[in-house]
Amino acid sequence: MMVFVGIIILVFFAVRQQAVTMEEISIGEVAQQIREGKVSRVVVNEDEITVIYPDESEGTSQKEPDATFVEQLKELGVTAEDLSPDNVIIDIKPPSAWFGVINVLGYVLPFIMIAGLFYFVFRQARGGGTAAMNFGQSRARKFTGDNPTVTFDDVAGIPEAKEELLEVVEFLREPEKFIALGARIPKGVLLMGAPGTGKTLLAKAVSGEAGVPFYSISGSEFVEMFVGVGASRVRDLFDKAKSDSPCIVFVDEIDAVGRHRGAGLGGSHDEREQTLNQILVEMDGFDTDTNVIIIAATNRPDVLDPALLRPGRFDRRVILDRPDMRGREAILEVHARGKPLAPDVDLKTLAKATPGFVGADLENMINEAAILAARREKKMIDQTDFQESIERVIAGPERKSRLISDVEKQIIAYHEAGHAVTARSLPEADTVHKISIIARGQAGGYTLMLPESDRTLVSRKKILADMISLLGGRAAEEIVFSDITSGASNDLERVTQMARKMVTRLGMSSELGPMVYGQKDEMIFLGKEFTEQRDYSESVAEKIDGEVKQLVCDAYQQAKEILSEHREILDTLAEKLLEQETIESAELDEIFPVPQPKNGGMPVKNSK
Ligand code: ADP
Ligand code: MG
Ligand code: ZN
Repeated sequence: MMVFVGIIILVFFAVRQQAVTMEEISIGEVAQQIREGKVSRVVVNEDEITVIYPDESEGTSQKEPDATFVEQLKELGVTAEDLSPDNVIIDIKPPSAWFGVINVLGYVLPFIMIAGLFYFVFRQARGGGTAAMNFGQSRARKFTGDNPTVTFDDVAGIPEAKEELLEVVEFLREPEKFIALGARIPKGVLLMGAPGTGKTLLAKAVSGEAGVPFYSISGSEFVEMFVGVGASRVRDLFDKAKSDSPCIVFVDEIDAVGRHRGAGLGGSHDEREQTLNQILVEMDGFDTDTNVIIIAATNRPDVLDPALLRPGRFDRRVILDRPDMRGREAILEVHARGKPLAPDVDLKTLAKATPGFVGADLENMINEAAILAARREKKMIDQTDFQESIERVIAGPERKSRLISDVEKQIIAYHEAGHAVTARSLPEADTVHKISIIARGQAGGYTLMLPESDRTLVSRKKILADMISLLGGRAAEEIVFSDITSGASNDLERVTQMARKMVTRLGMSSELGPMVYGQKDEMIFLGKEFTEQRDYSESVAEKIDGEVKQLVCDAYQQAKEILSEHREILDTLAEKLLEQETIESAELDEIFPVPQPKNGGMPVKNSK
């Protein structure tokens, strides 16, 4: 059999060899030369084209098999006039010897195929493990990490995520060090972020850095083929991984299998469910010394099955944010490496001009710029090429929906600055760590506030302060733009919930007194609060509603007062946000230096 295949290959190459000895030109070039009148004769033999020039030199070309030569020339813009006999002679040879070869092949081919089939079946019977029997085995690709193609140097603009994964790499490099101190190596790391933020890239970098085997598979590959295959693929993958530990298993796009079970309309999700169950079983079955770390990536953490997020599974979650201006500059630096840039190129300006771009967009943009420069016969890529390429990327299909107008950006900046200023002015409110106008999920921007300490007791003052800072966003919009937007809907929801809880569950309303209103039936098994049973009269219900409204309105009023009082700081913060998109806590301290004694929001005896 092998000899036979060998002969076929040899014959094939011999034939090819003959065809490529003369200079080979593309059919497009042939058309061009005919139009320019540079060709005296063309000989067409099946799909082989021989071009003969006035000086008797020759060139060869190939035509597409499914159209005649003349048809193809016409498609390439050659007119009937160009093809007139005084211009060029076209000599079409009738099917000749080749026809005979094809005819013979027609007789021989079926025999070859039958022979091949027998061979295949024979191998199968011996359990030779050829492709057809491999359905149940994982198709994970294994990388040894001996010659890394991607390292942490190639990842930029997402410092926190990099930091987290560096730790994972350290675990894998020297597990003994951590185990000696009784540390438990994390089982799973879940990378979450918008498409193109570098999740796959980061996982590859881990494999490049860790120096341990790295199995990579995509969630969609688990489910693509036959029913019942997914689960056995998972089993096989983990068996391999465990026998190879320490190692990493990377499941890209885990939402393909890890979708909320029972979600989705119609159709059976059995296959997915089995696959997911198997992943969970494998993860739970790891011993403490298994040393297999699972890294999974998803664009859609919102649809993930809660079982995947339970403790002991993906116990580390890493969010990859869209990069801010400084991040974008760093990413541009990475991708500009080794490309000839003209001296006038300013990456900082480019970073400024690309709000909302993720790493993949930036890479795409640099590539477009290089293409533009090459088409203009330039030796270096200059600033104008980049500016044009930004427009191209913005105009691209998947980018359009993500564009934010300047007006919207301004509103978002003031909204977030409003949260920050109110929170800062209230000693009881949580500490502001970071303000950003880069979209995260549904929110246009975000203000990251963290409590100073964990607390089990929450004072009334603290809740009120939180309500005021939540309403600070909406209040800033009203003060600055005399109009309000839908951007605050989530804030309002939370504030309303807090106020209602204060009144009905915490007894924090003077009007209604220290009482609990309404009974909650808790579905203990599901851990969810299900129904609320009313045990109070209609008139009390009205009082509750009135009291809730009063609390919220008072908080809103206070938020507006605080912001009017600190209007300059509000403006400065918003401007700074528009300029650099994020503000870290240290920078915030500079702009709004209010050293405030914090006591965790607990009541102080001598407070006013
Ligand atoms: P995801 O998996 O999150 O959708 P990828 O990792 O596939 O995104 O990113 C696609 C490409 O975009 C990468 O190959 C890389 O060239 C570029 N890229 C994305 N994020 C970054 C980053 N943080 N630093 C450098 N390049 C990046
Ligand atoms: Mg990816
Ligand atoms: Zn808000």
